[in-house]
Amino acid sequence: MLPPDLGLSHPFQTPPGPGQALEVAPGIRWARLPLPFRLDHVNIYLIEDGDGVAVVDTGIDTRPSRDAWQRLFAGPLAGRRITRLIVTHCHPDHVGLAKWLVERTGLTLEMSEAEYLSALVLLLDPGSLASDPYRSFFVDRGLDEETTDAVMTRGHDYLRSVSGLPDTFRRVIAGERLRIGGRDFEVLTGGGHAPEQIMLYLAEGRIFLSADQVLPRISPNIGVYARDPEGDPLGIFLRSLRSVKRRIPADVLVLPGHDLPFRGLHARIDAIIEHHAGRCDAIVAACRDTPRSAAELIPFVFHRELDAHQTGFAFGETLAHVNYLLRRGRLKQAMSRDDVLRVSV
Ligand SMILES: [Zn+2]
Repeated sequence: MLPPDLGLSHPFQTPPGPGQALEVAPGIRWARLPLPFRLDHVNIYLIEDGDGVAVVDTGIDTRPSRDAWQRLFAGPLAGRRITRLIVTHCHPDHVGLAKWLVERTGLTLEMSEAEYLSALVLLLDPGSLASDPYRSFFVDRGLDEETTDAVMTRGHDYLRSVSGLPDTFRRVIAGERLRIGGRDFEVLTGGGHAPEQIMLYLAEGRIFLSADQVLPRISPNIGVYARDPEGDPLGIFLRSLRSVKRRIPADVLVLPGHDLPFRGLHARIDAIIEHHAGRCDAIVAACRDTPRSAAELIPFVFHRELDAHQTGFAFGETLAHVNYLLRRGRLKQAMSRDDVLRVSV
């Protein structure tokens, strides 16, 4: 959680209720679907497209989320055709109802290639994350058994919260323009939170659909995963933020994947970059006199009680900072005598 930012403004203070869609810009409506987490909602956007409506993101596959869609179909979407189905990234709160909506509409799912394939791998082989080569990834970095078990069954959680994927998709590519309702939306993609997350920029309306890449209140989870143990998602994420800042003007209205629409994109990007720099400094300080494992560093980064599920995410996020610092030579790593990988300055 980040402190509230100075320099952000929220032109819409009250989110749309269940079954409602609120116009936030000409031809663009904002709706919300429920999530069964502490972060209890995801935003979706409905873009006017000729005689129908293009949809951006689908929500998680739960009964309340499907019910929320039914209310949209009966209300703001009554009598309207869905023209396109664009999904920003592979996380279950965004792609969860993709197949369900494809079956309902006959549309082709539009996603970036890495996001589609990431979702596909998990759906085809949800148990793969629980296989043995991955256990050592966690245990070697000091994670306790309980949390390791919780993290390793995540593939099954994913399967439960996603309705499936259609067998074909239309690949959305960075730099192309999607023509929706006679207007060109430029596609940007960014990694770090997800491999190739789609963002959409409507220059003529000064509108930026930022997905989860830039959120107004929280920082998106940036995690290292067992398949790529030395990965540098934080480096990738920070590069993406800088490139968004170069490409997208400061005065856009940002339509994020969670929380409220806001203005102040550049200030927000600066705050997120600073937030991660602070975490890096805290980790380096914690390792100054004592070598520590990624698991041992979690309390220096997250200052609150975490359950096993949250600890799993905190571990991945802490390791993202550790790997970032290792790559840049600010930390070094060695195996301690108790067979745990620890980093030091
Ligand atoms: Zn996400």
